[in-house]
Amino acid sequence: MKIKLEIEKCIGCGSCQAVCPKYFEAQEDGKSHIKDAAKQEVEELEVEKVECAESAAQACPVQCIHIEK
Ligand code: SF4
Repeated sequence: MKIKLEIEKCIGCGSCQAVCPKYFEAQEDGKSHIKDAAKQEVEELEVEKVECAESAAQACPVQCIHIEK
């Protein structure tokens, strides 16, 4: 499974970090990033279980978090 985050669309509201601090963190650019993911336009992280990332995707107001199963 994969967690994806479209960095450009992120408005830095912080919801994903509040719901799922395991995978999301705020960085210097004011946007949210996937922890331990390579810096790129669409960050990706391969995970065994999406866990709270699914809730983060639902909480995101601009729908820039995606879960691939
Ligand atoms: S919930 Fe969405 S818009 Fe808000 S910080 Fe996270 S990725 Fe960005």
